Amino acid sequence: MGDGRMGYDWETLEKRLKKELTDERYRHTLGVMYTACSLAMRHDVNPDQARAAGLLHDCAKCLTNKKKLSMCQKKKVKLTEFEKSHPFLIHAKLGAVIARDYYGVEDTAVLDAIRWHTTGKPAMTDLEKIIYIADYIEPNRFKAPRLEKIRRAAFQDLDVCMYMITCDSVNYLKADPGSMDRMTLDAYHYYKELTEKRNTNDGVK
Ligand code: FE
Ligand code: FE
Repeated sequence: MGDGRMGYDWETLEKRLKKELTDERYRHTLGVMYTACSLAMRHDVNPDQARAAGLLHDCAKCLTNKKKLSMCQKKKVKLTEFEKSHPFLIHAKLGAVIARDYYGVEDTAVLDAIRWHTTGKPAMTDLEKIIYIADYIEPNRFKAPRLEKIRRAAFQDLDVCMYMITCDSVNYLKADPGSMDRMTLDAYHYYKELTEKRNTNDGVK
């Protein structure tokens, strides 16, 4: 059932998740879920996959750091030194494992979208990009710069939108370079190059 057609019991998933998250986090979660669905409809991605990944992307977010670390140990989730010293990052990796083992998600495309939603990475699938982007632009978000432009780009071109968000994230994290995961920087360079290459090609045409 790796094709996303697995039947999800949305009501049960939502009920269980609501208990695991703070009210604010749950509201954000619903925002990501519906935004991801809309993006999936726009970009020809299976909306159920987007809905499941959006709903579960932060399922590990509200655990204490101590609990996150002990669950990683229990589930044999390997952590880098960087992740150990920045437990905030762990919720994505651990979230994918919890989605699989506690929420019964078998679709690896959905699990990978949860896995990469915080740092991004080079060469993401459309579903992965959609969750990363939805997390950033969902309606409850208001702090990021040039949100209107980024929101518009999300419904026009996923790669350009990835470039915009990773660029702003790298700039934001520059204030505290020790807090930047290597993967975020790799993602930024990848989408920068991809977007610029495409622009030059357009110029040649
Ligand atoms: Fe998150
Ligand atoms: Fe989130």
